[in-house]
Amino acid sequence: MTEVTAYIGLGSNLDDPLQQLAGAIAGLASLPGTNLIAQSPFYASKPVGPQDQPDFVNGAVALRTQLAPLDLLDQLLAIEQRHGRVRRQHWGPRTLDLDLLLYGLEIIDLPRLQVPHPQLPQRDFVLQPLLDLAPDLCLPDGTALASLRTACPDNQLRRLQPQSRSGAGFPPAGPC
Ligand code: ADP
Ligand code: MG
Repeated sequence: MTEVTAYIGLGSNLDDPLQQLAGAIAGLASLPGTNLIAQSPFYASKPVGPQDQPDFVNGAVALRTQLAPLDLLDQLLAIEQRHGRVRRQHWGPRTLDLDLLLYGLEIIDLPRLQVPHPQLPQRDFVLQPLLDLAPDLCLPDGTALASLRTACPDNQLRRLQPQSRSGAGFPPAGPC
């Protein structure tokens, strides 16, 4: 069975965001055919879009998974639903947002799934946790995330937790 490394972005700004993210990470760790291999620190960030909503808490995790991309997306949406996610306003407040950021080096362009996540280059609250996990990470086209990070808009990131976790042998050595 083939396994890939997938990166998931997490965000919450309602109903105890730190608890939402902790619960989501537990849910990701117990997905079928999947191991959680690393977890980034959490960051507070200013909302994108409507400003009349609380700050977000964001983070990212790395998974090794046997799930196909659409199956993984369905699992992410199911975890969001279990956390009471209601879709009302585009870019509005949410108890939990789980985005499939990267799936190995695959490029996916389906109506309900685009990978790499299209907004990834513009979001410091996504890029920074990814770089914490894997400083040499690149997009499938070879673009280094570190170069995107220096060019992207500032959402006033504030690191919330000093420690992160990562398993032995992660991130893999070498560029990209
Ligand atoms: P956003 O995260 O942009 O605020 P939503 O979380 O409301 O938007 O997601 C809306 C839809 O985006 C999902 O139902 C899903 O089908 C689609 N989608 C497309 N690409 C991705 C991706 N890489 N990760 C997660 N959802 C995605
Ligand atoms: Mg989403």
